[in-house]
Amino acid sequence: MFIDTHCHLDGEEFSADRDAVIQRAREAGCERIFLPAIDLKSCKTVFDVCNQYPDYCRPMFGLHPEEVRDDWRDQLSAISNWLSVNVQHSSPDAQKPIAIGEIGLDYYWSREFEQQQLEAFEEQVRWAVEMQLPLMIHCRKAQNEMVHIIKRYAHKLPGGVFHCFTGNEQEALQLLEFDRFVLGIGGVLTFKKSHLPETLAAVVPLDRIVLETDAPYMAPVPMRGNRNESAFIRYVITRLAETYAVSEDEVCKQTTDTATRIFGDK
Ligand SMILES: [Zn+2]
Repeated sequence: MFIDTHCHLDGEEFSADRDAVIQRAREAGCERIFLPAIDLKSCKTVFDVCNQYPDYCRPMFGLHPEEVRDDWRDQLSAISNWLSVNVQHSSPDAQKPIAIGEIGLDYYWSREFEQQQLEAFEEQVRWAVEMQLPLMIHCRKAQNEMVHIIKRYAHKLPGGVFHCFTGNEQEALQLLEFDRFVLGIGGVLTFKKSHLPETLAAVVPLDRIVLETDAPYMAPVPMRGNRNESAFIRYVITRLAETYAVSEDEVCKQTTDTATRIFGDK
């Protein structure tokens, strides 16, 4: 059994066959799916899907760096109002957020909103400190800036995931210095040109990894190019077992233990 710690299952890519996707995930051994939000609208769709599958799906809330624009302050206050009204004060059965995410910095396409991204990220890191929730961090072309902010709060943060890690050994070591944080590993591990297997084997202990799809994106080989889904994590597990020369069961056990350490027993 394993956990998909990062899946955009609320996306419209899944609206026609979400039941079937979840059925296939269960059959593949996926015991939980965690859903990050990217903006106010997706906070609502994430919450709806999680309440539709309360024994299986768990929500996160936040503003993704690529969704940070001039109106970021309004977005954040709307998300935080919505959180306090609909989540914290709702019925005991309703889903509670398990993390703040996905949040971070992304300068891959543009630095137009660099300053706004920095401020929005830091404000949401403060939410995580206040609410004592782990972080789901998205970071592209901005690791030094991201690390700079996390360092200031690290001693007060319960932990988190550096999602979709694709960096080199030095970058991995820099992130692993945050001892309550781990790396999210998904389809990229299986790509033919990826150096990730060598990097992981060299410097990343198996107990500092959680599994993720980032579905519908990042489908692993041999499904590359298709819509990704949680059941496809089996291909990532196979590659991780080869990388660490352990059994697939061991990969499942360690990554599930790590996900439980970060997110609690969800
Ligand atoms: Zn994502």
